Amino acid sequence: MQGKNLVESALDPAKAVYDQIVPAGEPWIYEISTWQYVRMIDVEGNQAADTLFFNAHDYEERYSAQETMRTQGNISLTTGTPLISSQGNVLLTIVADTCGRHDTLGGACAMESTMVRYGLETRDMHACRQSFVQAALGWGRGLEKRDITHNINFFMNVPVTPEGKLTFADGVSGPGKYVEMRAEMDVLALISNCPQLNNPCNAYNPTPRRVLIWDPEV
Ligand SMILES: [Zn+2]
Repeated sequence: MQGKNLVESALDPAKAVYDQIVPAGEPWIYEISTWQYVRMIDVEGNQAADTLFFNAHDYEERYSAQETMRTQGNISLTTGTPLISSQGNVLLTIVADTCGRHDTLGGACAMESTMVRYGLETRDMHACRQSFVQAALGWGRGLEKRDITHNINFFMNVPVTPEGKLTFADGVSGPGKYVEMRAEMDVLALISNCPQLNNPCNAYNPTPRRVLIWDPEV
């Protein structure tokens, strides 16, 4: 099953119109136009990318984990997965994936959940929720804290046990693995390059990410 999902992209990094490194632990926010391709690369491996997507012209329309899982009848995201909005439209489609499986059940880490899971002394450690808020408010244009809802955890492995229990496991990603999407509408993407130090989603060591964007194929 997993082998079928492993699809490489034919797009050449030298022809990308955008090529940026997102430092370890930092957020990234950017608009992607209809039919552009965006590739997120797990540069050093096992680095979760907590990601939100919005309709670039209406932030009320945003990524829905529920609609996405229901539409494809599967809880894992990979090649072929349409990422569905809260209004039932396709925001982007995953067109290539060399990792094979991405989570959308685990949510984003927050200072509160980190403290509950890992102890009071972790209370002030930076978390994805803070990165999301910082980037959303910095972006402005009406994007606010209340717009931060369902997210995707690219490159994060959250297996579900036969009893239905969620577990955070060692990553299935590795250095240079990537996921690539085609935008099906103008979207605003917000990534938190997860700063979490207390669980294996980042191999206890947050690392950078590379983001590439290509214009539509002519
Ligand atoms: Zn996180």
